[in-house]
Amino acid sequence: MLKGKVAAVTGGQRGIGRAICEKLAEYGADIAIIDMCDENAARETASAIESKGVKVRAYRCDVTDGASVKETFKAILADFGTIDILVNNAGITKDKLAMMMSEDDFEKVLDVNLSGAFRTSKEVIPVMLKKHSGKIINISSISGIIGNAGQVNYSASKAGLIGMTKSLARELASRNITCNAVAPGFVETDMTKNLPDGGKTLADSIPLRRFAKPEEIAGLVAFLASPAADYITGEVIRIDGGLAM
Ligand code: NAD
Repeated sequence: MLKGKVAAVTGGQRGIGRAICEKLAEYGADIAIIDMCDENAARETASAIESKGVKVRAYRCDVTDGASVKETFKAILADFGTIDILVNNAGITKDKLAMMMSEDDFEKVLDVNLSGAFRTSKEVIPVMLKKHSGKIINISSISGIIGNAGQVNYSASKAGLIGMTKSLARELASRNITCNAVAPGFVETDMTKNLPDGGKTLADSIPLRRFAKPEEIAGLVAFLASPAADYITGEVIRIDGGLAM
């Protein structure tokens, strides 16, 4: 389904990003993992994905550093020749009630989750414009749709991603480039592993009574990256077990 396509995934070393890399590779895409993690971790993820028979490279890059993002995309283009799919998945939390939150913690989360996606998108847009095709998929969150106490920074960044998704979709549609967002609820990753009572109370409040597995989010991203989604753009798809319906 994605044979011959090149996908760049930010935050691709672990969690949802890794599952996305694995799923896109299963469908035949070559994979550029972009992450600020240490090289051993990146190498381990890369070789696991390589075992699926596709080309994989890991690039150490902090998406808050514009120069590093530019260099990384230059290197990806030199190594792979093109980029067909960009998944903006890198994200962090720095949760606190608004009255206790420092301006620095507010800005840092915006810088990674929202401005980071802007920086990477800017690098792939000229490539996709030339090809008259491309798919940009942003990993938002239901926090960006319904808000969440203790997450004014995170919710603002994820709501911002939804606005950016729709604007990019409008800007790029005439060149056959789609831009969509995925809004997960709670997913079993490092990001959610330290919740009080292991997340049980939260899980009980979800209609499907459990957190998502990273592979489930990856399946939706792979669908949006595939030709089956060629006529979908500017869409935000919740994948939250019914939590925010
Ligand atoms: P995670 O913490 O397990 O993984 C995040 C990855 O992003 C890590 O590999 C990390 O090294 C990388 N990263 C962080 N900052 C970076 C930076 N500045 N530059 C480059 N890479 C960076 O998180 P996850 O749970 O897999 O989340 C992935 C995405 O899904 C995030 O955008 C998150 O907001 C979103 N999301 C997660 C959940 C959840 O419940 N886990 C729910 C909704 C949305």
